[in-house]
Amino acid sequence: MESSKEIVIVGGGITGLSAAYYLQKEIKEQGLPYKVKLVEASSRLGGKISTLKKDGFTIERGPDSFLSRKTPAVKLAKEVGLDDQLVRNGTGQAYILVNNKLHKMPRGSHMGIPTKARPFLFSNLFSFKGKMRAGFDFVLPKGKEVQDQSLGGFFRHRFGNELVENVIDPLLSGIYSGDIDDMSLMATYPNFYRLQQDHKSLIKGLRKTLPKSPRSTKKKAGVFYTFKDGFESLVKQTEQKLDKGTITLNVAVDHIEKKDHGYHLLLSSGEVYKADAIIIAAQHETLPKVFSQYDFFHEFDLVPSTSVANVAMAFDQSAIKRDINGTGFVVSRTSDYRITACTWTHKKWPHTTPEGSVLLRCYVGRPNDQEVVDLTDEEIKDIVLEDLNKTMNITQAPKFSVITRWRNARPQYTVGHTERITKIRGKMAEMLPGVYLAGSSFEGVGIPDCIEQGEKAVDNVLEFLR
Ligand code: FAD
Repeated sequence: MESSKEIVIVGGGITGLSAAYYLQKEIKEQGLPYKVKLVEASSRLGGKISTLKKDGFTIERGPDSFLSRKTPAVKLAKEVGLDDQLVRNGTGQAYILVNNKLHKMPRGSHMGIPTKARPFLFSNLFSFKGKMRAGFDFVLPKGKEVQDQSLGGFFRHRFGNELVENVIDPLLSGIYSGDIDDMSLMATYPNFYRLQQDHKSLIKGLRKTLPKSPRSTKKKAGVFYTFKDGFESLVKQTEQKLDKGTITLNVAVDHIEKKDHGYHLLLSSGEVYKADAIIIAAQHETLPKVFSQYDFFHEFDLVPSTSVANVAMAFDQSAIKRDINGTGFVVSRTSDYRITACTWTHKKWPHTTPEGSVLLRCYVGRPNDQEVVDLTDEEIKDIVLEDLNKTMNITQAPKFSVITRWRNARPQYTVGHTERITKIRGKMAEMLPGVYLAGSSFEGVGIPDCIEQGEKAVDNVLEFLR
């Protein structure tokens, strides 16, 4: 008979919650004598997932959706009984704001890379010279094999600056709230590196490997999912499935000590939890603090985090004088705007907005405009309204606005990220056996990536304890 073991999870965002869920599932299925505790520093679960219901609107303060083709999130939704709550986004024209003008995203763009010649050649998003330069991708030799390089540098080399600045940068840097020129290719889009190595030309590689879109007149299905009752329903439903007494809120793990047998976790409440294995599902800044006696965690000082503010504004339909038929736009650095993106939420996610109303969701906080996040609500509101007015001609004040500041909440995968994480994991295996890292600072920021990392950490813990 195996002896009883304690597993502690640090952090109750989606990573920690999914780890707790899958651990308890395995423990029950395999009849293991293990106990799971999850310690969350704040007063609520969900971390960056936060839904606000107000006057009939469903407002996502953090993530609003996830890519449906990435399976771990759909799998978790099914596990916790939310599959009938999954909703796909409404599709429509996406726009890009370049040099202060809205342009349609050319048809056939994949992450900004053109895969169809005609829409690209006829697009007024690029100059003749810019179009010619993008064509170099067909003739340039494949790049040298390197361990990593800057995402921006990689695309600039293949397509030139114009394609990068007008389309690729606004699309990709928004996903990470980062600077494309600092970001790591291998930690964010290693598939582009491999395509280029295998096919020489990225465009040719994409054309060969992307699934063919069916020649149908039917409207295409959206590629994102959210939950009818708000993203936070995933958090609540997962929590419901956990054993009673699993979760401790309002208590931070302040320090972790390695002992002869396992670990002691010193909590902000003054209590000490014993653990045989630990999953750290908190952002990387936590590690040098809780493991202050281990210098190698200072490697994380090279992983910066950026801040953003999410601004949701609700209007009467009549307030919008220039309605645009589409789902939103991203903003290029060449535009004189401070918002970086705007989703027409009422069109992309109609279930979030009452009839006759409009819900716009914008972001501010480019890497070179971090101070905007510290302005007052009134100042941020004015900045956003001024920008929106330029494109949509808004004649009435919003019915209400909701501003959510996310300070240092977006970990930046800068060049060398994957090697850094591998190095830290190697040191941990040697010096802190049974402690595992999972979550947005390490191997992917998207919700499905975080859930997948939670599942992987569960496998590691079970193997370690066996
Ligand atoms: P977190 O959600 O950060 O949770 C970590 C938890 O650990 C927190 O609750 C924290 O309080 C706790 N903690 C920290 N230190 C301690 C400690 N010492 N002791 C105990 N607890 C501790 N992804 C998408 O897929 N789609 C999107 O649309 C999308 N939009 C986003 C929009 C915004 C504004 C942001 C900020 C992120 C967005 N993301 C999106 C990314 C995604 O939301 C995050 O990567 C993901 O939610 C991170 O989950 P996590 O559990 O790893 O971390």
